Amino acid sequence: AKASAQERICLFEDYMQAEFDDRQELEHDLRLAVERDQFELVYQTQIEVTTLAVHGVEALVRWNHPTRGQISPAAFIPIAEELGVIVELGELILRRACREATTWVKPVKIAVNLSPIQLQAPRIVETVMDVLKETGLDPARLELEITETVVLNDRNGVVHILDDLRALGVTIAIDDFGTGYSSLAVLRDIPFDTIKLDKAFVRDIAVSPEAEALVKLVIDVGMHLGKTVIVEGIETEAQHQSIRRMGGIVTQGFLFARPVAASQLGFLRAS
Ligand code: C2E
Ligand code: CA
Ligand code: CA
Ligand code: CA
Repeated sequence: AKASAQERICLFEDYMQAEFDDRQELEHDLRLAVERDQFELVYQTQIEVTTLAVHGVEALVRWNHPTRGQISPAAFIPIAEELGVIVELGELILRRACREATTWVKPVKIAVNLSPIQLQAPRIVETVMDVLKETGLDPARLELEITETVVLNDRNGVVHILDDLRALGVTIAIDDFGTGYSSLAVLRDIPFDTIKLDKAFVRDIAVSPEAEALVKLVIDVGMHLGKTVIVEGIETEAQHQSIRRMGGIVTQGFLFARPVAASQLGFLRAS
């Protein structure tokens, strides 16, 4: 039997209520998770494509929820941003990443993601400075990844912050490059050291000359500007070979490494 219109509306309201409870619960749990530190970091290796040497690792956060299991950052970072707890969470991540990096036998670079909200929080420069001092990490090993969206509202403010951060000796990467609507302006206006070309551009390079030309263009621009270019999302040998032909750059993708706990990365441990 078909539900009446009235019944359908009730069902819909129940559904909405359940969604709402779920979201409320998640928000509540997230605040608690920051207090209780239920997070861990996994690391994805970045490889220099011509030499196959390790360039660095990117720290990626995971939430070990007590009943729901591991939750992906794609699901909770946006909520943390809306709630504002991203500032505290981001600091926790930065401190842990820097602390862990000082224990590795090989002094590779470590890239840490910064939310736009975190970058524009009042004490970001002091926070990074404090963490570097506290952990003793060589600032040259720390790369902070920001996205193009940071420049949307307050370009001058952001430029100032990035200058101050770079004055500490850390480097800045533009993450997910090419997914914003002002990528060229970002290259012109923002002080940075590394371009991370978004994985969306890489997907078709081995089969589409247009896709390949775009990737090549970004690599060439980066090299002309004297920047490091990291190509994200390399999943197949065909993609790898096509990137190799384009020159001396860095790749990051499942073909070479999945994100794993630092303890699983042999090159970081004493043998
Ligand atoms: P992102 O910064 O662009 O990080 C790269 C994401 O791409 C990671 O997903 C990584 O596992 C995935 N990836 C790497 N190689 C490949 C590949 O070959 N193919 C495909 N399909 N994916 C690949 P993850 O760890 O789920 O993180 C998702 C996003 O969550 C990140 O995207 C970043 O925006 C955010 N995030 C992760 N950790 C943090 C953090 O500590 N702080 C902040 N603010 N955001 C974070
Ligand atoms: Ca990133
Ligand atoms: Ca990215
Ligand atoms: Ca991203």
